[in-house]
Amino acid sequence: MIIELTKHIKVVRPEAKAVFPYSNSLFIDDEVKAMIDAGSGGRAYASTPVEKIELLLLTHHHFDHINGVSFFNNARKMAGREEAWAFQDEALYKKSTGYERWQELMGGQKNENWERLLELPDDVPSQLGFQAIELAGVFKDGDVFNLGQTSFSAVHTPGHSPGHYAFFFPQESILFSADLDVSPRGPWYGNEFCDLDDIIHSIYKLIALKPQILVSSHRKVFDSGVEDLFLAYLDIALQREEKILNYLTAPRSIDDIAAQDFINEWEQRNQHVLFWHKMMILKHLQRLEKLGQVAKTPDDKYIKN
Ligand SMILES: [Zn+2]
Repeated sequence: MIIELTKHIKVVRPEAKAVFPYSNSLFIDDEVKAMIDAGSGGRAYASTPVEKIELLLLTHHHFDHINGVSFFNNARKMAGREEAWAFQDEALYKKSTGYERWQELMGGQKNENWERLLELPDDVPSQLGFQAIELAGVFKDGDVFNLGQTSFSAVHTPGHSPGHYAFFFPQESILFSADLDVSPRGPWYGNEFCDLDDIIHSIYKLIALKPQILVSSHRKVFDSGVEDLFLAYLDIALQREEKILNYLTAPRSIDDIAAQDFINEWEQRNQHVLFWHKMMILKHLQRLEKLGQVAKTPDDKYIKN
């Protein structure tokens, strides 16, 4: 489904719900035609002129944003300069997943394969895992794209991933915030290179733009109350942190903390969900340690200072 925000700026919504493996895209239908992200699925892109798209901008490297890159044969592909590695360097990509910590966090071998757990819909033309994508170039914070009547800038918003970008259209006051998606589940930071401090700063950076209209990767379009949406979203992460901190009056392991279910992020429960849950706890503990609020004991437990 296409939602016309203006004559030149259109949201491409997946036919199915805009949740993994799908995400919303933004179609700039101007003199130069561009698409932001490629995860809306073949059925949604069927109503867009995919062959005429000259520029494909990727907000970050997660599968639900890049799985349809092959639809855009004629487009120059670009991603944030902080994340070009994710499309080129398979070893670094693997490190970024955090799976090197599987043994440490899960106490056993990783034997369930996420790639096989999930059956992908037939209009998602890629397999999970590393995807080599030839980039025609990279963008950086503040870069401006002029595509005719429409111009917009790249806004570096790291934390969810190191090279995560939003895009802001100042004339129309439209923000595409990608995976800072104001989900009622809160922000997600379950990969090795996720950083909660960065997420907090990135959310305030987006609020400061004072967008009237918010389009994110996984929700409907909002045309009012954007600041409140972002603050409520951030608050979910801060509340998780407070609960963890209050629980650390005695030395606790990551397993102890995980058993408290402070991070209620996913509906389905499997080994991967539990792993990401523990990774997110680890991100909180890393931040609290940095802030001097928590210390690690010699037996790998954590306690409030
Ligand atoms: Zn993502």
